[in-house]
Amino acid sequence: VRLYLARIEAEQHLNAFVEVYSSDSLQRAEEIDAKLTAGTAGRLAGLVLGIKDVLCYAAHGVQAGSKILDNYKSPFTATAVQRLLDEDAIIIGRQNCDEFAMGSSNESSYFGVVRNAADRARVPGGSSGGSAVAVQAGLCHASLGSDTGGSVRQPAAFCGVVGLKPSYGRVSRWGLIAYASSFDCIGPITKSVEDAALLLEIMAGADEFDSTVSTKQVPAYSKSRTWNESQKVRIGYLRESVESEAVAPAIRQRTLEVIEQLREQGHTVEPVEMPLLKYGLPTYYILTTAEASSNLARFDGVRYGYRSQQASDLESLYKKSRTEGFGEEVRRRILLGTFVLSANYYDAYYTKAQRVRKLIRSETEQLLTRYDFLISPVTPTTAFKLGEKTDDSLQMYLADIFTVGANVAGTPAIAIPNGLDENGLPIGLQVMTQAFEEEKLLSFSQYMS
Ligand code: GLN
Repeated sequence: VRLYLARIEAEQHLNAFVEVYSSDSLQRAEEIDAKLTAGTAGRLAGLVLGIKDVLCYAAHGVQAGSKILDNYKSPFTATAVQRLLDEDAIIIGRQNCDEFAMGSSNESSYFGVVRNAADRARVPGGSSGGSAVAVQAGLCHASLGSDTGGSVRQPAAFCGVVGLKPSYGRVSRWGLIAYASSFDCIGPITKSVEDAALLLEIMAGADEFDSTVSTKQVPAYSKSRTWNESQKVRIGYLRESVESEAVAPAIRQRTLEVIEQLREQGHTVEPVEMPLLKYGLPTYYILTTAEASSNLARFDGVRYGYRSQQASDLESLYKKSRTEGFGEEVRRRILLGTFVLSANYYDAYYTKAQRVRKLIRSETEQLLTRYDFLISPVTPTTAFKLGEKTDDSLQMYLADIFTVGANVAGTPAIAIPNGLDENGLPIGLQVMTQAFEEEKLLSFSQYMS
């Protein structure tokens, strides 16, 4: 803990943490040390963990990177976090993120931008940027992020670490500040696939506080990771992802090399078409903004956090608190979501997007009955420069073109490091499989990495 505290201090300019729990974590370390001596320590004894600022931890601040939750302390702990604590993980602090987990660059946080440790003039990706950089720069062993459309995998790829988005419903969302409830997943960001497997194993499973979490039994992910090399699989790769000019040449090249290597190892690797891929982003942005506009209605200046001092009556209290408390991107999405849910447009946008979601899901499921895994790059480019896309939301949204599919379909997907580009920036490879097949996904990615 002391080592990590010193590193966090030395790397403050990365802005990965919004709050560090120095005395808390040192005290817990001592308690766990005593347990180790007594032989009663849990499976994560000594693991130093950072949590994204959207995960509740009792008696600690949590504010989703937003001014609107200023001074808010959570009265309870998220299930996923509690399960890690129960195994004696030590939480060293909460990590910077895009406001309400909306973003792909970690430039929209109330606490300022986060920097990529590979090149400080570049973004770490988002929205779990602080969590990815913290692992990249060795400021903690592992982090917990949240992934609604790519927010664990995309920053993991930009920072050269491992990011796992589990199947929807594998991990309880209780205590995760909601962005878009039918997409949100808590996922680990780690140095290795093995670490991700262990954290998932401990966090996953039924929870009476989340009615959408699956009651399916949780396999011992950490024990089943050795891939039997004689087992040959069928893999599909998105043809577009290695042919399109929109994907950076170094990324296409590295992806092709992986394809070649898998073939040499005796696996069947074939190009696949996903005609509905181009509808992934519009579907995602209609449905997530709709859900966000509803989820964020609770932040009204009355119940939580920030309250405007300029208000003269109840209506102006709501209006001014929300206008002053939310940043620009969050306000944009609340407006978009309110629009697509409004009486005159509901059928044209919201209902239609729900239908398209169903089509994308069945297209993905069908492909995954023909192939064991689907692989693609995680992102079309490597980490871009700070400020490069802040004026163009549509360009920013394109960063998630390969990641949103897994959230739309509810399937698990992992980002693993796949070399560097010509500027020494990390490249990621995404591997996806059928829902609730994390065991297979983890052991195959372990074998590949
Ligand atoms: N970048 C995407 C968005 O802005 C994904 C965010 C996420 O996964 N939380 O919505």
